[in-house]
Amino acid sequence: MVADVLKALGVSAEEVSRGDLIVRSPIDGAELGRVKSDSPDGEVDLKVGWSVIAFKEWREVPAPRRGELVRLFGEELRANKEALGRLVTLEAGKILQEGLGEVQEMIDICDFAVGLSRQLYGLTIASERPGHRMMETWHPLGPVGVISAFNFPVAVWAWNAALALVCGDSVIWKPSEKTPLTALATQKLFERAAVKFGNAPKGLSQVIQGGRVIGEQLAANPHVPLISATGSTRMGKALAPVVAARLGRSLLELGGNNAMIVAPSADLKLAERAITFAAVGTAGQRCTTLRRLFVHESVHEKLVARLKTVYGAIKIGNPLETGTLVGPLIDKAAFDGMQNALSQAKAQGGKVTGGARALEAQYPNAHYVQPAIVEMPTQSEVMRHETFAPILYVLPYSNFDEALRLQNGVVQGLSSCIFTRDMQEAERFVAAAGSDCGIANVNIGPSGAEIGGAFGGEKETGGGRESGSDSWKAYMRRQTATVNYSNALPLAQGIKFDTE
Ligand code: NAD
Repeated sequence: MVADVLKALGVSAEEVSRGDLIVRSPIDGAELGRVKSDSPDGEVDLKVGWSVIAFKEWREVPAPRRGELVRLFGEELRANKEALGRLVTLEAGKILQEGLGEVQEMIDICDFAVGLSRQLYGLTIASERPGHRMMETWHPLGPVGVISAFNFPVAVWAWNAALALVCGDSVIWKPSEKTPLTALATQKLFERAAVKFGNAPKGLSQVIQGGRVIGEQLAANPHVPLISATGSTRMGKALAPVVAARLGRSLLELGGNNAMIVAPSADLKLAERAITFAAVGTAGQRCTTLRRLFVHESVHEKLVARLKTVYGAIKIGNPLETGTLVGPLIDKAAFDGMQNALSQAKAQGGKVTGGARALEAQYPNAHYVQPAIVEMPTQSEVMRHETFAPILYVLPYSNFDEALRLQNGVVQGLSSCIFTRDMQEAERFVAAAGSDCGIANVNIGPSGAEIGGAFGGEKETGGGRESGSDSWKAYMRRQTATVNYSNALPLAQGIKFDTE
């Protein structure tokens, strides 16, 4: 089946048969292909060189025209949504609805970027000098390096690339070594759009395949002014000093440890649905997955009992099959990480429900799990770490201030939410002294952000913002320009500097 999907997307059998990077499907462990990785001996620098040349041409193309290329790319995505969504499922293991949803997110950001291509505005600022005009202009920045994680193998690139391209930048993408096929296919779709566009510079968008070493080379290259990196906090901590050492810019989208507060007034039905989707969706492998649940003591017992019933009925299985809600974990390391966290949780006083391996006889070479609910006595050490698996830690609380302290009491700061009908609690949650996260929702779960808003988190999540709002500014350089249209040369700050 993978051969048909790849063919439909324009990837030839030859391109995926002889490489050194062996791609296995998390669905059953079967080999999907072999992709050639780029050599660390010069290939990255070579591609960056092409990217610099492409940038110099692209930056002079009017932005609305650049938007036309992104519009055409969006059309390719629309026409190939089914095939690319299926490939996402085959390679990353998320259920087909989520694979399709990921491609929809790419389409949405393309639409957003096309509109944006006519809205890259600056300010005109009053000058203190007579006969002068001062203005702020946003100019293209240069090649943008995009390093992405396995769990959103194509959407994260699109969030970056669609904006970077309309902003006049070229793009070099290093996808996760676990998902090279979706990157290859996306690049093919981009190339089709480029052909329709007519005169896009060669090398405007390129892919470099490989692991950490290749990513490090991209990060270290002084010709790449911005590195947008999505992945674990561990990766961000290794990468940020490399970019900073050359005084480059980095946009970091790192690990989350997202929480929900369920207040006494909450609509428990809504909360239950939101919790289930956010905690077990994508098998707990979203950066915005719900990991910590703080429930008011008056409703704790009732809600936990309901969740256990709902969890017991969740269909775990092949993500390509209709009705499946939870697919496999990405690999054995993810499974081991989950089991290790559950043992720690037990040692720290947790009561674990679920969490065992599932469907082992049917899929001996894949790792399916029962999502776990862990009732914890306190927010202990294990809860402070992001374990990239479906583990939901639940803790009772007695007052709002305590719940807020618990929710903010971790090093990550990506997404957060509260379920309440109490307006004061809702307002306090989103106020300055409320949630310290980049995303704070009321009566909505922590995952599934819309592309219209800026996406990203605080603290060890890295501080980057992508996608909507004015995130585009990260992909441009700001220039303050003052024009003197008078016949005099008045100096700022009233300085007298007479040379006559
Ligand atoms: P990972 O950190 O293992 O890898 C991410 C990417 O970084 C890969 O392409 C990898 O090859 C590359 N990489 C690793 N070390 C590097 C280094 N030193 N220099 C340069 N590149 C390097 O992450 P993963 O397992 O693929 O993804 C899961 C993680 O990503 C989770 O922590 C999740 O929360 C996070 N994530 C965050 C967001 C967000 O928007 N905040 C979105 C998706 C995933």
